[in-house]
Amino acid sequence: MGKLELKNISMSFEKKPVLRDLNMTVQEGEFVSILGPSGSGKSTIFHLIGGMLKPDAGNIMQNGKDITGQKGHISYMPQAPSLFPWRTVLENVLITQEINGKKDKALALDMLKKAGLSSYANATPAELSGGMKQRVSFVRALMSPMPLLLLDEPFGALDELTRLEMQKWLLSLWSMDKRTVLFITHNIDEALYLSDRIYILPSNPNDKPMEATVPFPRPRADDLWLNQEFLEWKKDIYYKLKPSEVKQIEQNN
Ligand code: ADP
Ligand code: MG
Repeated sequence: MGKLELKNISMSFEKKPVLRDLNMTVQEGEFVSILGPSGSGKSTIFHLIGGMLKPDAGNIMQNGKDITGQKGHISYMPQAPSLFPWRTVLENVLITQEINGKKDKALALDMLKKAGLSSYANATPAELSGGMKQRVSFVRALMSPMPLLLLDEPFGALDELTRLEMQKWLLSLWSMDKRTVLFITHNIDEALYLSDRIYILPSNPNDKPMEATVPFPRPRADDLWLNQEFLEWKKDIYYKLKPSEVKQIEQNN
C-alpha cells in the first residue's frame, strides 16, 4: 500500500534548479529520513509528493501507480503547522478522519493525552505555544488513515527533552502499525535514531544525494546516542553534510 518512488525528479523555481534528476525509493513499512541543509529542497520534495507542486520532469509513483501532481494520496504534516483557527484542538485533530467519513474521538483524545495536550482538547490554536501547535499538527497527521506519512521537521520547534519524548513516542506508534514514513529533519541524531535509511541531500542540486542504511537494531535503545558506533556514524554524516566549499578549506589547512 505504501511504497513510494521518485523517478528522475527535477524542479526549478524561476530558473533556479532546486532538485535535479532525483531518485528515491521508500519501501512499504520503511522509515526513511531526508537529511539536508536548509534550502536543499527537502520541503519541495514533500510538496511534489503531495501534489501541491508539479515537477518539471520525472514521476512520482505509489505502488507502481503514477500519482504525479495528484492530491489526496498521503498524510502530510507541513513544516509550519496550519491549524484551523476557528476549530478546537480536538476538531483540528479529527479533520483528516472527517474527510474520510469516520471519526474516532476516543483515539484522538488518547493521542492528545500522549502528546501532553489533554487539557487543551477544547482550546483554540490561538491559546497554544508554537511547540504545542506543532504537536497538534503531528497528532493530526498520525490520525489520518493514509498508509504513507510525510513529516516535515515535526519536532523542530520543540525543546530537547520534549523532542526526545516525541521521537520515542513516534517509534512506539510506528512499531505498532508499521506505516511507511518519510521524515524530514536537519538533525543527524534524530535521523539516526529513527530511520531504517537516510537520504542525505547536497546543498548543490548538481551533486548526487547520498544514501545510508542505519545498522542499529530495533527497538532502538534510549541511550543509543552514547554508543561509540552511533558517534562514528554521526561524525561521518556530519562531514558529508557540510558544503563542499567548507570541506575544501579544511583540506587546504
Ligand atoms: P528546505 O526545506 O530543504 O529548507 P525548500 O524545499 O523549502 O528547502 O526550498 C528549496 C529552495 O527552493 C529554496 O531556495 C527556496 O527559496 C526555493 N523555493 C521553495 N519553494 C519555492 C516557491 N514556491 N517559489 C520560489 N522558490 C521556492
Ligand atoms: Mg523545509
